Amino acid sequence: MPRYPRVEDDDYDWPQYVSVGERRRKAEREAARLGEASPVVLKGSRIANTFWGKAWCENLERYSDYANRLPRGRTYVRSGCVVDLKIRSGTVKALVSGSRVYDVEVKVSPIPNLRWKAVCQDCAGAIDSLVELLEGRFSKPTMERLCQEKTGMFPLPTEMKFSCSCPDSARMCKHIAAVLYGIGARLDEKPQLLFTLRNVDQQDLITKAGSRLTKPKTARLLETDSLSELFGIDIAEPKRRRKPRPATRKGS
Ligand SMILES: [Zn+2]
Repeated sequence: MPRYPRVEDDDYDWPQYVSVGERRRKAEREAARLGEASPVVLKGSRIANTFWGKAWCENLERYSDYANRLPRGRTYVRSGCVVDLKIRSGTVKALVSGSRVYDVEVKVSPIPNLRWKAVCQDCAGAIDSLVELLEGRFSKPTMERLCQEKTGMFPLPTEMKFSCSCPDSARMCKHIAAVLYGIGARLDEKPQLLFTLRNVDQQDLITKAGSRLTKPKTARLLETDSLSELFGIDIAEPKRRRKPRPATRKGS
């Protein structure tokens, strides 16, 4: 039998002798072996179809840091290689089937308090129920507010850290890229997991009588001092002390 490059050799997406069908069957066997696994299974050719799933994927694609690696992730996730994916608060753990099964972890920072409060204030009155929220049934301006780069609900590259057990030394290997798209597919089915992942309460976005979100629905002007905490990144001097957080959260 001739020698073929291993799948881990990063110049090759798939060795020629392994068809997509074979790879998919292998991934299915792996998923069955894992028992309680939550494989990423796409319903059609698209990775995501709903507001939340699409918004997650579009957020990834807006960052040039990721541009080279993401197309391979699309190929991988479409072929059923993400054989397990679980989203918890601050962490996504996944298993990706290549020539071996690799462990992938994506850590995502919580949304900083000030940023979340600003999102909720700007969206106050726009979403009436949990069903509307999860089904993405709200106005275009509300969608745009939730998706705003840096000030919306979706993570910046500085808010995500990745690891994979494969030998590819690149910061984002194709297994990680597949998992990032797998998260988008999972949010299609269970959008509430975005709130779990980012450690915020989805109820804060829903309009209630006597809601604590009583401020006017206008974009807030942010003071420079609060930018660091809002974005969760150090903007100026790295050693500058952060302002102490308020003693209470979420109006409790
Ligand atoms: Zn990898």
